[in-house]
Amino acid sequence: MRKILASLSILLLMSCGATNPFTGKKTLSLVPNSQILPMAFQQYNQFLGENKVVKGTSDAEMIKRVGQKIAKASERYLNARGYAGYLKDYRWEYNLVQDETVNAWCMPGGKIVFYTGILPIAKTETGIAAIMGHEVAHALANHGQQRMSAGKIQQVAGAATAVAISGKDQQTQQIVGTAFGLGSQFGVMLPFSRSHETEADEIGILLMAIAGYNPDEAAELWKRMKTNSGGQAPPEFMSTHPSSDTRIANLTAWAPGAKAEAKKFGVTTFK
Ligand SMILES: [Zn+2]
Repeated sequence: MRKILASLSILLLMSCGATNPFTGKKTLSLVPNSQILPMAFQQYNQFLGENKVVKGTSDAEMIKRVGQKIAKASERYLNARGYAGYLKDYRWEYNLVQDETVNAWCMPGGKIVFYTGILPIAKTETGIAAIMGHEVAHALANHGQQRMSAGKIQQVAGAATAVAISGKDQQTQQIVGTAFGLGSQFGVMLPFSRSHETEADEIGILLMAIAGYNPDEAAELWKRMKTNSGGQAPPEFMSTHPSSDTRIANLTAWAPGAKAEAKKFGVTTFK
């Protein structure tokens, strides 16, 4: 009996596991996308309603343009790896928000926000692509879900369906928001772990290259991030334990591989 119970719980754990298509590693995903995404979408819309969305400017258009290319690159990469359909529940959206905070994030389901404060550091469209690749990578690898504690995941799982319909459970919404990048809204910021940051850097540089952006610029972006922050990293990046120097060294080392990977997708020239 004990044996049966043990194998049952193993089965249960396995069915709760999702494979990270980029690393091939099993990840814990107790809340399925079908429950998380409606909540994320709701949070995103609420955020847009409460903040000044920049529309129609060349900067706003640039965010959309880069976003679409990174989304396309994600799909091409995942399809090629045998993960067609991985993004079927994604509803990509790319918005620029008037806010001097140096930040950007991507919620699960492809809901992206760039703050105007990060534009001077991004500096170019390619710099935007480096940041976008990194943020999208967090979403694709389900880092937000893993950032929630087990207890909170259960709480969210229990309330998810109800919230998706009613939108009334403020506390659950805040947990989801905090986990997925809206933390500063609520005065709480859960850090991504060091390994998640490194993973997002590695996936991100790949996505930017497949999207046709020069991956050599990723390291340049982080050099500007280091300089401009005057020793203090911006919010999303504050939690990032890889030091700027480690990060810059990694990205420099990975750039040739990203170009080689992009070549497999027919991308040989980079913007
Ligand atoms: Zn990050």
